[in-house]
Amino acid sequence: MKSNSNDTNAISRGDFLKSAALAGLGIAGLGVLSACTPSKTSGGGSDKPAGSSVTWDKEVDVLVVGSGTAAYAALVAKGNDVEKVLVIEKNSLWGGTSATSGGTLWIPLFYAGQEAGMNDTREDALKYMKACAAGRGNEKAMETYIDNGNALLEWTRDTFNWKWGSGNPDAGFKDYYEPYEGFRPFGRQADFEGGGAGEWATIQAKLEEIGVEIMMETPATDLIVDENGAVVGVAAVSDGKAINIKANTCVVLGTGGFDHNPELMSA
Ligand SMILES: Cc1cc2nc3c(=O)[nH]c(=O)nc-3n(C[C@H](O)[C@H](O)[C@H](O)COP(=O)(O)OP(=O)(O)OC[C@H]3O[C@@H](n4cnc5c(N)ncnc54)[C@H](O)[C@@H]3O)c2cc1C
Repeated sequence: MKSNSNDTNAISRGDFLKSAALAGLGIAGLGVLSACTPSKTSGGGSDKPAGSSVTWDKEVDVLVVGSGTAAYAALVAKGNDVEKVLVIEKNSLWGGTSATSGGTLWIPLFYAGQEAGMNDTREDALKYMKACAAGRGNEKAMETYIDNGNALLEWTRDTFNWKWGSGNPDAGFKDYYEPYEGFRPFGRQADFEGGGAGEWATIQAKLEEIGVEIMMETPATDLIVDENGAVVGVAAVSDGKAINIKANTCVVLGTGGFDHNPELMSA
């Protein structure tokens, strides 16, 4: 991790992940990590504005790293009037694994499921998530997910006229782990017409339409922190040049999972 003081301290991604907060937005049962800070950090440290010793090449309000599930974070930010939202993506293709997936989002209390007759409850959804997590989950994050997932779907329906299907019991989308407490045989799988490829193409087009900047082939290489350790930006490479991007409100990290990395899994 790069500091905006004159010291440059390398820390592992695992260390960052341990210190970062799990964001309220988690799609498809996955976490998207965000580090949101006020422009001045409070408590103890200097009141110096962030970025005093870094040369910034670009400044935005919300910086989203990765164009998979994290693309939803960019959509929500811009859709809620955040002025400058930027997505940087390492690859030349948009959407990561998400764009190759079935695109079905597991969302308890999903409106179409309820309309189709599923009597889902917050309590059962939480029991089921905890059983799936087998003691490794963050309960607060699970509650946030359950409490906000359906609101995201309704918001995309009401704002962009997106249609979510498969609340229908005949569609056959049941929870994966039938013996677990809180299981439901249908009604928690929100299915976007056109699958993951259609969904992520739609998200990309909508982001461009509403004014989110997208930089492809721009890998993030480091996080930049202020004197108090708060994340204030990201170092990246664009067109073969190293650049520093300042994020005044929030950095959202959605760079994919690491479930085959035992070290990070145990972090
Ligand atoms: C065939 C298939 C079908 C699936 N179907 C479903 C399904 O229906 N429902 C479901 O819930 N799950 C499904 N899954 C699983 C699901 O797709 C993944 O768990 C999910 O897409 C992972 O999302 P992510 O945002 O974490 O990662 P990704 O979608 O991979 O996004 C990460 C992005 O970050 C970019 N990136 C990485 N490092 C950097 C960097 N340093 N700087 C900038 N960008 C970077 C990557 O290039 C990538 O674009 C399926 C998976 C597959 C393979």
